[in-house]
Amino acid sequence: MNSKKYLIANWKMNKTVEESVTFIRELLKNSKLYKNEVIICPTFLSLDAMRETCLKNGIKLGAQNCHFEVQGAFTGEISAEMLRSLGVEYVILGHSERRNYFGESDEIINKKVKAALESGLKVILCIGETWEQRNNGQKLDVLNNQLKFGLKDLNSEMLKKIIIAYEPVWAIGTGKIVTEKEISDVSHNIEKFISAEFKTNFKCSFIYGGSVDVSNVEKFLNLSCVDGALIGGASLNADKFRSIINISENLNKI
Ligand code: PEP
Repeated sequence: MNSKKYLIANWKMNKTVEESVTFIRELLKNSKLYKNEVIICPTFLSLDAMRETCLKNGIKLGAQNCHFEVQGAFTGEISAEMLRSLGVEYVILGHSERRNYFGESDEIINKKVKAALESGLKVILCIGETWEQRNNGQKLDVLNNQLKFGLKDLNSEMLKKIIIAYEPVWAIGTGKIVTEKEISDVSHNIEKFISAEFKTNFKCSFIYGGSVDVSNVEKFLNLSCVDGALIGGASLNADKFRSIINISENLNKI
């Protein structure tokens, strides 16, 4: 567990460049520098326009995807290298929407993880089971497989640049949330997996995502195993996202 919490906004395919810039101005109204690690992942288009204001105010930029090649004939794609050169520090990989709607396999995700690390990006690796897998008792096998293949060929040093985001697919955008006990169990399972697979007792940063909002974020952040939250819907509104950040900042004071 880290003392700093990660508050990661995943905007998905929302906000024009203009709306993104307005959001960041709104968010930072009357704010001081945050102690926690606030990361905004807008669309690729908004990264450059948000860069100066974000970096000046200690807010980190993340991307929602990258390609695994450095450059070449990959129409419509963007490489990790290109993101890095734009001041981007993080990239979300393995999100269930990429897995489900864009057919990203664990093998592809693994290639992206390696390319991202190679370029100096930190990776927010999403794992999560569907409702059906959960009800069939396959949850831990699914999560372990996503980790095993997603982190293939990495060494224990590289794990320091990985944040594992547990996002049950059925909890994303639905208002359904998991119990604290379940999150702790998953975190414990990941620790066991990492220790067996990488022969290290290093603990990867572990965050939770899935319908996190102003009313429930404190409960998640208070879990000793949880290093932060990945936030979709509630991060699109500057007031809500500011409230979430403020809740996390106040936790640190206790
Ligand atoms: C997400 O898609 O990463 C996510 C956590 O979304 P939401 O917060 O809207 O459930």
